Amino acid sequence: MLPRRSFVVFRSFLSRNYASAPPPHALIFLEHRQGDVDSGSLSALTAASLLGGKVTGLVVGSPEYVPAVVDKVKKLKGLTSLLHSTSDLYAQQLPETLSPLLEKLLSDSEYTHVISTPSSLAKSLLPRVAAKLDVPSVSEITSLEHDSSSNSTTFTRPIYAGNAISTVRLSSSVPIKFFTVRATNFDPAPSEESQEIEVKAVDPVDVPECPVEHISTQLSKSDRPDLSVAGRVVSGGRPLKNAETFAATLNPLADVLGAAVGASRAAVDAGYADNSLQVGQTGKVVAPELYMAIGISGAIQHLAGMKDSKMIVAVNKDPDAPIFQVADVGLVADLYEAVPQIIEKLKQ
Ligand code: FAD
Repeated sequence: MLPRRSFVVFRSFLSRNYASAPPPHALIFLEHRQGDVDSGSLSALTAASLLGGKVTGLVVGSPEYVPAVVDKVKKLKGLTSLLHSTSDLYAQQLPETLSPLLEKLLSDSEYTHVISTPSSLAKSLLPRVAAKLDVPSVSEITSLEHDSSSNSTTFTRPIYAGNAISTVRLSSSVPIKFFTVRATNFDPAPSEESQEIEVKAVDPVDVPECPVEHISTQLSKSDRPDLSVAGRVVSGGRPLKNAETFAATLNPLADVLGAAVGASRAAVDAGYADNSLQVGQTGKVVAPELYMAIGISGAIQHLAGMKDSKMIVAVNKDPDAPIFQVADVGLVADLYEAVPQIIEKLKQ
């Protein structure tokens, strides 16, 4: 048993540690496009709220869009304050122009966490700023737990194409903890009309010698639901032959289901489908209510992007195709016979 004096010393050490740990204060980078808040950012906000402290949102962009985004964002449940910075410099969301602003905000305030959706922008922006501060950045977390007493945050994240789950703990020795959030694991934060939070403008930070120049942006237009958040997805693979057959076979099925269209990497590499439609380890990660894999073998890299779907339906003529190991409903059939029949049945 410890002598009484030691016990007292131990207790005071514990309470001192507890008192000195700063309460969590997250800065969440909220992405938007043409006035609409990115749905992944809404899920990242839900994750930020789980830290149990203050959550400050950051909206950056051109004068054309920022006011509308601020109006929507300030009502988001979970935000405790909102910063916005407006400049033509931010019209194109480039990591090179945004990182000086983020660095300045982090040097001025006592943020403990920096959070974002794992977009291509954030995948470049967050590690860039984290590296400057000499702290790690954890990507695509699927759960988190913050321990205020030790000021440590523990995350889980899938590794090896989702075949293993890694648990990462950032201790108090990491003063600012950077992480991106896998949207499919957190519900989007809802809006609360009655919410009133502090909204503050911050000055843009000039980048006199920007090393990059924006040339052009090409937005793919589609009337279909966004693949990343669609409730139903119809994906096609290599046997769809070419772009015309891919569209002629899958679009009618997607139309009748009100689904987004996805593709395997083989289909994308062969030019049947746009790169933005690729599902998998190096494509989009989706978790819809229904995922239909049409002529897709089920390679581990493809499964990494869709195996958390609630219901998986696979059509494949090979009964040993690995996709059947994750499918809830499997149809061993030639897709060119099966898909028109499925469409007919659905129409009835
Ligand atoms: P295949 O493997 O050729 O499978 C075609 C399937 O269609 C077969 O199972 C066959 O039985 C079936 N079939 C053929 N004809 C018919 C028919 N008429 N009717 C019904 N079924 C038919 N892949 C991804 O998808 N996403 C990724 O993000 C991704 N990232 C990768 C990252 C790395 C580093 C690497 C190395 C690979 C990655 N891949 C990815 C590629 C992956 O390994 C596979 O090569 C790819 O998924 C195969 O695509 P597929 O299933 O369309 O083609």
